[in-house]
Amino acid sequence: MSEPDSDELSKIYKDSGRIRVTLAGKKFEKIKIKASEDREQFWGEQAKNLIWFKDWERVLDWKNPPFAKWFVGGKLNASVNCLDKHIDSGIKNKAAIIWENENGETKTLTYFQLYHFVNKFANALKTLGIKSGDRVIIYLPTIPEIVIAMLACSRIGATHVVVFSGFSAKALSDRARDADSKIIITADGTFRRGKFIELKKIVDEAVPSIPSIEHVIVVKRTSNDIRMNDIDVWWHKVIERAESFCEPEMLDSTHPLYILYTSGTTGKPKGVLHSTGGYLTYLYATAKWVFDYKSTDIFFCTADIGWVTGHSYMVYAPLMHGVTELMYEGTPEYPQPDRYWALVEKHGVTVLYTTPTALRMYMKFGNSIPSSFDLSSLRLLGTVGEPINPDVWTWYFKTIGKENCPIIDTWWQTETGGIMISACTGLDSDIPMKPGSGTFPVPGIDASIVNENGEPVAPGKKGYLVIKKPWPGMLMTLWKDDLKYQNTYWERFSGVYYSGDYALSDTDGYFWLLGRSDDVLKVAGHRLGTMELESAFVSHKSVAEAAITSRPDEKKGETIIAYLILRTDYLESDQLRQELIDHIRNTVGPIATPEEIYFVNKLPKTRSGKIMRRLLKSISTGEEVTGDITTLEDNSSIEEIRQAYDNTHKANR
Ligand code: ATP
Ligand code: MG
Repeated sequence: MSEPDSDELSKIYKDSGRIRVTLAGKKFEKIKIKASEDREQFWGEQAKNLIWFKDWERVLDWKNPPFAKWFVGGKLNASVNCLDKHIDSGIKNKAAIIWENENGETKTLTYFQLYHFVNKFANALKTLGIKSGDRVIIYLPTIPEIVIAMLACSRIGATHVVVFSGFSAKALSDRARDADSKIIITADGTFRRGKFIELKKIVDEAVPSIPSIEHVIVVKRTSNDIRMNDIDVWWHKVIERAESFCEPEMLDSTHPLYILYTSGTTGKPKGVLHSTGGYLTYLYATAKWVFDYKSTDIFFCTADIGWVTGHSYMVYAPLMHGVTELMYEGTPEYPQPDRYWALVEKHGVTVLYTTPTALRMYMKFGNSIPSSFDLSSLRLLGTVGEPINPDVWTWYFKTIGKENCPIIDTWWQTETGGIMISACTGLDSDIPMKPGSGTFPVPGIDASIVNENGEPVAPGKKGYLVIKKPWPGMLMTLWKDDLKYQNTYWERFSGVYYSGDYALSDTDGYFWLLGRSDDVLKVAGHRLGTMELESAFVSHKSVAEAAITSRPDEKKGETIIAYLILRTDYLESDQLRQELIDHIRNTVGPIATPEEIYFVNKLPKTRSGKIMRRLLKSISTGEEVTGDITTLEDNSSIEEIRQAYDNTHKANR
C-alpha cells in the first residue's frame, strides 16, 4: 500500500480480474445514456410495460423530498399485472409455480389455477371484512398459498405484511401490533430440517397480545388435530365458499402494496413501505435487464418469501413476466447438503438465484457432491444478500456453472425494492465480469461513492455508497415513522440516499461492495473493510466461512479478530493458525495481521443468512450482547462464540 491511509484494492481483487465472461452486444450503454438524458421520460417508458387502468399524469412528484410519488394519477392493480394479463394468452396453462418440500413432495400451479385461487381468496378476505387499505399479516412458510395470499391482498388493495415463518410469537406479535392488522394468515405448520414446526401454536401464543386481530385463517397441511379457536377459520373452507371472480380494485400508483421488515443485521428491523406503481415498474424493468427472462426458463430463487428477495423475485417479478418458478420449502443442507443441485437436476432449472452464505456452506463439503448432479440446464447464476467473496464466485462459476454461465452479483436492499447494481444479461452488455464485483448500477440508477463529506472519491478508494436521484422502486417511507425514514436515509449526506454500505469503484468503473459502513476497521491508520479481510481468509483452502470484527487497541487504534469455520477436511491447530496469519500477511499485507483467530462451528447469522457482526463485536470486547436479536437464526451461536472466545483467549495471546 502506497500511503498510510490508502485504500487500494487488495491483491485478491487484482488477481480476480483474470476470469472474464464476456456477453455480446452494446445495448447496455445505449440504454444507460437514454436513462441519464431524461430520467423521467425513461422511467415513464418502463412503466408502459405494465397494465394501467388509468395512465399517470406525472412520472415523478419530488416536490417534497425525500417523499417521492411515482406515476401520480395512474391507477393499476398488482394482481392484474401478475395474473389477469396472462389469462387470455398462451401462458394461461403454463406452470406458474412448481413447489417442492424437503420430503421431495411436489405440487404445480398453472397461471390459470393461481388466478382462480387468488380470485377466490380475495373474495374470502372481503367476506371476513378486509377492505382496501387494511393490513394483513401473512405468517406462512414457502408454499403456494403464500403467493395466493399476497396477490389476493393486492387484488383488493389490502397491504400485506409478510412475517418470516421462522420468527417467534413475540416477533410476530410486535409486527402485527405495529401494523395494526385485523387478520393473520398461517398454516398448521411447516417442516424444517425434519422437524414439524407448529406455526398455529405460535400464532395462538401471539394473538392475545394483538388487540386488533379479528380472524386467523389456517392452511391445513397435515392430518394433525389442531385446536381451532372462535376466531379461527380454515383456509380451504373460506375458499370453498367464495365466488370465483373478484373485481380488482383500481388502486392509485402510490397505494401501499406492502410493509416488510428489514433483516435486522445492523439493528432493530425497519418497517419498509413500498408503493404499487413505482415498485412494479422498477421490478419489471430490472428483472428483464438482469435475468433476461426467457419463456422456457425455470427460475429458482432460493430466498424465503419472508424477505424482500422472495417478495420481488419469487412473487412479483417472475409472475409479471410469465415465468415458471421453482419454490422450495426447505433448507439447502437437509436431509443432505445437495438440495439445490438435486432440485436443479430434477426440474431443469435454468436460472439459480441464491446467497453467498449458501454457496459457502456447499463449498465446505467439497466438489464431489455438486459434480454428481447434471447441472447442464443452468444458463445463469445469481447471488444476493452479502458481498460474494471472489473465491466463492470462482467456485460458483467453475463447479456449478462449468464456466458456461455468467454470474450476476446483485446488490440491493429491502428499501430499494429491486436490484440496483448488477450485470444486465438482458441488455447484451459487452462487459467482462470480474469475480466479486457487482459490475455497474443498472440503467436509471445514479450511484456514487463518497467520502465523509459527501464528495466523490477517486477510483480505487473506498467510500459510502449513495444513490443521488430517486428511482421508482424506492421505499415510500418507514411505516408510521416518516422522521426515521428521513434521518436514516436522507440526512447523512443531504439530499442523497445513504445505503449504509461501503464500496469502491475500480479504474474500470466496476463497483465492489465491501460490507456495512459500520463494519469498517481502522488499524494503524488504515481503513480496512470486513469484507476484504473475510475474502482473504476464505481464499485459503482450509476456510469455509469467516467473520471479522475488532477490539479497540491503544497502539493500533483497533486490532483484528477473526472467527473462522473450517472446511470439513481440516482440523484446527496452532500450525494452521500460523499458516492463516501468514496467508493474510501475504495477500492483504502485514497491516491486516489478525491479533486473534477463533475456530468455531457456527457464526451468528440473521435468519436471512447474514453475519451479525455487531454480536461478535460485543463478545470480543467483553461486553454483554445488547440490542435487537429477534432476527438471529440460532441463539446458541452466541454461546458458542463466547465459549470459543473464553477457551482460546489465553492460547491466542
Ligand atoms: P438491517 O437494515 O435491518 O440491518 P439488512 O440491511 O441486512 O438489515 P436487507 O435489506 O435484507 O436488510 O439487506 C440489504 C443489505 O444486504 C445491503 O445493505 C447490503 O449490506 C447487503 N447486500 C445485499 N446484496 C448484496 C450484494 N450483492 N453485495 C454486497 N452486499 C449485499
Ligand atoms: Mg439495511
